[in-house]
Amino acid sequence: MSNRKAELEILITDLNERLSRYEAHQQRKGGALDKDSEKQAQQVQNDEVVDSLEEETRSELAQIKTALERIDQGLGGQCEKCGEAIDSRRLQVLPYTTVCVACAEG
Ligand SMILES: [Zn+2]
Repeated sequence: MSNRKAELEILITDLNERLSRYEAHQQRKGGALDKDSEKQAQQVQNDEVVDSLEEETRSELAQIKTALERIDQGLGGQCEKCGEAIDSRRLQVLPYTTVCVACAEG
């Protein structure tokens, strides 16, 4: 269990680093948009990609924090929805998951 926690802490650090890179990108765009409209379109498209990556990263971070809270409460191995035990192999592959396979698929 403590292994899983350590793994999640590493993931959080990793995701936070990614987030700051996305934020740095978004701040740069506040500057000059390229005057060339084709390049500008490309730039806007890139920004949209970064926006959605940023959103994805934020929701991953939220999920990891929920998982850590549940681990602290001693519920880390239990499904958040049905209360059944989460398969340990599933936890190895997805250390941040808080639901069992059945609930994830259902
Ligand atoms: Zn379940």
